[in-house]
Amino acid sequence: MNFIVLVKQVPDTKHIPQDAWDWESGTLRRALLENVCNDLDKQALAMALKIREQQPGRIVALSMGPPFADEVLRYALSLGADYGILLTDRRLGGADTAATAYPLARAIRKIQTEIFGDDTDYMIVTGMQSVDGDTAQVPPQVAEDLGIAHIAYVDGHTIEEKGGLCFRRVVWGGVETLAPTRFPCLVTVTQWSLPPYPSFGRTRWAFAQDIRKWDAESIGAERNRIGLPGSRTSVVKIFPAIETSHRKGRKIADLRELPNLLKTSFGSSGGNGKERVSGESYQLPKGEAPEYRGDIWVYAEHENGSLHPASYELLGKARDLAGPLNESVGAVVAGECPDDLAADLIAHGADRVFLLAHSSLKHFVPGPYVRAVVQLIQEWHPQIFLFSATPLGRELAPRVAYASESGLTADCTGLVLGDLIRGKTRRIGILQQTRPALGGNIMACIVSQNSRVQMSTARPGVFRAIKRDPMRKGEVLRCVPDLNGSDPGVRVVSIQLASANAGLANTPIIVAGGLGCGSKEGYERHSGGLARALERFFGQSAQTAASRPAVESGFAERDRQVGQTGQTVAPKLYVALGISGALQHITGFEGAGVVLAVNKDADAPIFQASDYGVVGEVETVIPELVRLLDASSKEAKE
Ligand SMILES: Cc1cc2nc3c(=O)[nH]c(=O)nc-3n(C[C@H](O)[C@H](O)[C@H](O)COP(=O)(O)OP(=O)(O)OC[C@H]3O[C@@H](n4cnc5c(N)ncnc54)[C@H](O)[C@@H]3O)c2cc1C
Repeated sequence: MNFIVLVKQVPDTKHIPQDAWDWESGTLRRALLENVCNDLDKQALAMALKIREQQPGRIVALSMGPPFADEVLRYALSLGADYGILLTDRRLGGADTAATAYPLARAIRKIQTEIFGDDTDYMIVTGMQSVDGDTAQVPPQVAEDLGIAHIAYVDGHTIEEKGGLCFRRVVWGGVETLAPTRFPCLVTVTQWSLPPYPSFGRTRWAFAQDIRKWDAESIGAERNRIGLPGSRTSVVKIFPAIETSHRKGRKIADLRELPNLLKTSFGSSGGNGKERVSGESYQLPKGEAPEYRGDIWVYAEHENGSLHPASYELLGKARDLAGPLNESVGAVVAGECPDDLAADLIAHGADRVFLLAHSSLKHFVPGPYVRAVVQLIQEWHPQIFLFSATPLGRELAPRVAYASESGLTADCTGLVLGDLIRGKTRRIGILQQTRPALGGNIMACIVSQNSRVQMSTARPGVFRAIKRDPMRKGEVLRCVPDLNGSDPGVRVVSIQLASANAGLANTPIIVAGGLGCGSKEGYERHSGGLARALERFFGQSAQTAASRPAVESGFAERDRQVGQTGQTVAPKLYVALGISGALQHITGFEGAGVVLAVNKDADAPIFQASDYGVVGEVETVIPELVRLLDASSKEAKE
C-alpha cells in the first residue's frame, strides 16, 4: 500500500501579531508570522506511518504553496515520508478551496502515474482541516475530483486479520466504522494520539533531499480552474472577531458573589427557545433585478427518525432570505425517513420538501448522496443551498458544491442578502456569508462568484428556528435519483449511536462535565451534586450533560453529549465543569441564557464563551459552591 499525505504549511495562528493584519485589503502579512506544519496533517502522516508498519509502501508528501513551503515537506521527510513534492506557481495563488482541490487532484494523478507506476493501491491521507482556512472542504473536493471514496473525521483505525483496513469516524450521535472497498480512497484525520517526532539523523537526511517542484503546466492544469480566476468564492472584507462575541467572560474571584449573580441573571436570561434576532431585512433596490433566481434550499439532516436541530435553524434562516427575494423555501431529505418528517419540515418553514429515496441512500456515504443531490440541483436550480456545519454537512456540501460548480463558504455565523457595487459591477441580492477565519482570530465576509448556486454550511446554534405551525401548507415531492453504477467505495462495518434521549432540549438548567472532572466518579459527584444544588436553589429542574471525550471515557451516556456531534441545548443556565471550550463543544450551547465555567486553566477558551468564570479545581470549587447555594436557599426560606 502506498500513501500520499497532503501537508500544508500554515501560519502559527496562536501567535499572530496585531500589525500582521492589513484591514484595508483584507489580507494577512504572512512574512510577519511563523510558519508551521498544520497539526492535523502531522497526525495524518502519523497514521500513514502506523499503517505502513503492517502494509509496507512508499509515502509521498504533497503540498501546495510558495517556494519556501518546501520547509514543510522537509519536515514531513524528517518524520518518515519518502518523497516531497511541492506544487508551486504564482498562478496557483489566491485560490479558494475548489481552485486548490483541482490542482492537488491533478498532482495526485501525476504521482499515481509517475511514482506509483499506475498502481492504484494507495491511500490519500490528510488532516480534516487546516488551521488557517479551517473549512474542511479541500479533502472532500479532491475526492470528488478524483471520483473516489472519502472517509472523514477519522480518529482511529484497525487492520483486520486478512489485512483489510477499517476506520473509526466521528458522526452525529456516536461513531461508525467504515472499510474502503476500493482504492485509492481518501481519509481525513481528526485526531491521532501518537504524533511522530523527527530524529536527528532523519532530519539531516531530509535536509539533503531534493524537493520536486511542479508548476501549473507540469500537472496539466487548465488556467481558468486555478488561482483567483478558478475560485468560486471571494473575500469581500475581514474584521476583528471580537465584535461578534456577546458573552462578557467575567472572572469571579470570590465565590460568595455567585449565588446572587446567578439569581439575578437567571431571571432575565433567555435560553430555552428564546427567539434570536433575525437576519437583517433586505430590500431589493428599486428597478433592479437580483443576480440569482430560484428557491432557497436547506439540506435537512436526520438520524434515528429525528431531524438534526440545526435543520430547523436553517429553515428559519431560509425563510428570512426567501421573503425579500419573493422565492420559496425547499428542504431536501435523503435516505429512509419517517413520513411525519416532511410534515415537520413544512410546519417549520419549508414550502416544498424533496424526499430523495433509493436503496443506495439507506446510510450516509458521500458518493451516492452527492450524485442524488446534484441531480436535484440540475433539475430545480435553487439559488441558495444551506447545509449545517455538522460532520455530515461538512462532508456532503463540499462535494456537492464542487460537482455542481458552486461556491461554498464553511461554518457561517452570519448570512444576509446584500448588494455589491464596485465600479460598473453591480451584484444585486447576493448572499453575504460571514465566518470566523484563521483559528477564530478574524471574521471574513465572503460571496460566491462564477457560481451556479450560492452554498454555505452554517454553524449549529447560531440561527433561529421559526415557531412550529402545524397549519402551514407545503408540497412533498418524492424523487428517485438515477444512481446506476454508483459505487460508494466503502462498506459500513458498524454504527454505534446514542439509543436513548436524555431530554436535555427543554431543561432550564444543565451542568456539563468534561475530562477535567477526572473520572466517572468525579463527574457524577460534581456535575450531579451541583445540578441538585441548583435545583434546590432555583426550584427548577436540572440535568447533567458532558463533553464528547467525557462520554467516550465512560463518564456519561452518549445521549448526554453536548456539541456539534451531540445535543444542541438552550437552557436558561449552562454550567461547564472542566471543559476546555473547543468550538465543537460550544456550538452546542450557543443559545443558552447564562453560562458559567469552572476551569483550572485561566486561559481556557471556555471562559470566552461564558458570562461568568471561576478559575480553580472542580474538586475544591464545586463543594464550596454547593454549600453557598444551599446556604443562600436556606436564608431565603427563613
Ligand atoms: C468532528 C468532531 C466533532 C466533535 N464533536 C464534539 C461534540 O459534539 N462535543 C464535544 O464536547 N466535543 C466534540 N469534539 C471534541 C472537541 O474538539 C474537544 O476535543 C472536546 O470538546 C474537549 O473535551 P473536554 O473539554 O472535556 O476535554 P479537554 O479538552 O481535555 O479539556 C479538559 C479541561 O479541563 C480542565 N481541567 C483539568 N483538570 C481540571 C480540574 N481538576 N478542575 C478544573 N478544570 C480542570 C483543563 O484545564 C481543560 O481545559 C469533536 C471533535 C471533532 C473533531
